[in-house]
Amino acid sequence: MDSQEEHIKVSIRVRPFLSYNNYHPQIIRIDDEKTIHIDDSEHTITSHYDKIFSQNSSQKDVFDFVCPSVLQTLEGFNATIFAYGQTGSGKTHTIFGVGWENNELFTENSNQGIIPRAISKLFSIENEYISFNLNFLQIYNEHLYDLLSDPARAKSLRIREYKSEIFIDGLEETSISSANECMLLLSEGIKNRAVRQTRLNNQSSRSHSIFQLYVINKKGGFRRSKLSFCDLAGCERYDKEYEMNNGHINELKNINKSLSTLGMVIHALASGNKEHIPYRDSKLTRLLQDSLGGNTKTILIATISPQIEHVDTTINTLIFADRAKEIMVRVKRNEPAAMNSTEIIINLQQEIEKLKSLL
Ligand code: ADP
Ligand code: MG
Repeated sequence: MDSQEEHIKVSIRVRPFLSYNNYHPQIIRIDDEKTIHIDDSEHTITSHYDKIFSQNSSQKDVFDFVCPSVLQTLEGFNATIFAYGQTGSGKTHTIFGVGWENNELFTENSNQGIIPRAISKLFSIENEYISFNLNFLQIYNEHLYDLLSDPARAKSLRIREYKSEIFIDGLEETSISSANECMLLLSEGIKNRAVRQTRLNNQSSRSHSIFQLYVINKKGGFRRSKLSFCDLAGCERYDKEYEMNNGHINELKNINKSLSTLGMVIHALASGNKEHIPYRDSKLTRLLQDSLGGNTKTILIATISPQIEHVDTTINTLIFADRAKEIMVRVKRNEPAAMNSTEIIINLQQEIEKLKSLL
């Protein structure tokens, strides 16, 4: 089977100044769509990426950049889109968009983030052989929760490995038959996340949210590909404390083990070391092993604040993005396979739903 080696695609998105940022010297300059400069009295940095989104870029501009990878899932490729950056820099805005509380994002509008746009796009393509399943989860403090289950009763789920495939015990994988159904589940998960966040005393910035869409093509077998969207925890704590007390790695790991392990995995992969990658050291990296060093087209969107008081974290975010740029992944189309028992069950459930709708 032909496979191709490619770099992880890395882009930077600069958040606009918000109305309450009343003092704003410009420290960021974008010369062309691939080059960014950071200039203040202490730093002069120039760096290149696959794409830079300025403060004036729209949600549509960002989606257009990721759209080819989204569409390739229909041909059997896996894809992952990550948002990484400090709290308040625009990760959630980029991945989900704003307005879910009022169900405003169900229909096309300029606030929609990448996920609702991807859903609309995928469902707009008519193909009788293709169906979709989804799940939506959150990792907080090394515990994994299903965002589509009742937050009052949500319990921590286990990661298991079977025949070198990672799966999550008890995570609901729901089959969906329309874009609207998908949006409903998405907004339900977002609402559950909000409920959980309130209970966690607003420590939302320390959790990771992962929305996964499985694209199933039944033509000539059963070809499954996975499209993942990750809204990562805010990186400021990790970076600042990493700088300050490099010796206290254990403390750091406890602050956000998944995020710090992600940093180490990226570091190891970027240095070309394919042997000792610490994927197993955290839930996030274990779950996304394939997105980082495996068979997945991966895009990182690093979001940064334009504010001068955030410049240190902004520079750390760019350093993380620079490392990610070095990572090569080998991607190939997933082959049609015979169905396993779970897939047979899902398939039958879908048939039942279809038949019910005809009654
Ligand atoms: P994060 O998820 O990284 O903590 P948010 O996505 O919640 O940050 O963004 C913080 C605030 O800034 C929100 O009010 C959001 O709507 C706003 N914001 C972020 N990025 C943009 C953008 N590109 N354009 C307009 N507003 C933005
Ligand atoms: Mg957020």
